[in-house]
Amino acid sequence: CGIVAYIGNKEAYPILIKGLKRLEYRGYDSAGVALLNGQMHVYKKQGKVSALEQYAADKPLAATIGMGHTRWATHGEPCDVNAHPHVSNNGNIAVIHNGIIENYGPIKEELKQRGYHFNSETDTEVLVNLIQEIQQQENLALDEAVRIALAEVIGAYAIVVMDAHNPDQLIAARKGSPLVLGIGEGEFFVGSDASPIIEYTKNVIYLDDEEIAVINRDGTYMVKTLRNVVKSHAIQTLEMNLEA
Ligand code: GLU
Repeated sequence: CGIVAYIGNKEAYPILIKGLKRLEYRGYDSAGVALLNGQMHVYKKQGKVSALEQYAADKPLAATIGMGHTRWATHGEPCDVNAHPHVSNNGNIAVIHNGIIENYGPIKEELKQRGYHFNSETDTEVLVNLIQEIQQQENLALDEAVRIALAEVIGAYAIVVMDAHNPDQLIAARKGSPLVLGIGEGEFFVGSDASPIIEYTKNVIYLDDEEIAVINRDGTYMVKTLRNVVKSHAIQTLEMNLEA
């Protein structure tokens, strides 16, 4: 339902929480964040963003890369375990997802046969493990594993992917669900709309369907298609103000 992500020099967690609150108007049943700081920390709770904040208050929160999600359940009841982010079996890859992976059933069966287990009932947990499987099998960079996994997927999605082994990079991709990349000074934001981004930067790129953005801590980024064609987007300037 709602997506926000950050990579840069600032503390990610307050930006994520504030962003999730700005996305609350969309409606949701649970909320969660993933933070990378030496290891992957994932906190998620059914209910309001404020319930997540309370739950996370005494946990490690320092990180300059992270992502947050508000979920509107489509596959699996609203509960803590089904909330996003979802983490792959090896513990390294985390995904937040808006939308529906329609062919998650057969992919889940195949992954089970290869020894994967699933904690949730979501389509999203199938996608994150498909990414892990492709990354491991073909020894690929994360963005390539994401691209190949998404080429196998039928459905609609906006996703952000984070890898514990690469704390200097976020991957974002979309098809049928909106996703905005905010380009700041030495920092990047990702949102399912501009509302969590606008107070930090007005410079944005709206990703097109079947596009993947590779976003690096060093300030570089690249957009390519599911067919591996590099795209160049003109940076747009947001005109709306916070009250809009
Ligand atoms: N299909 C996913 C789920 O049920 C994502 C739902 C959403 O868009 O929030 O967990």
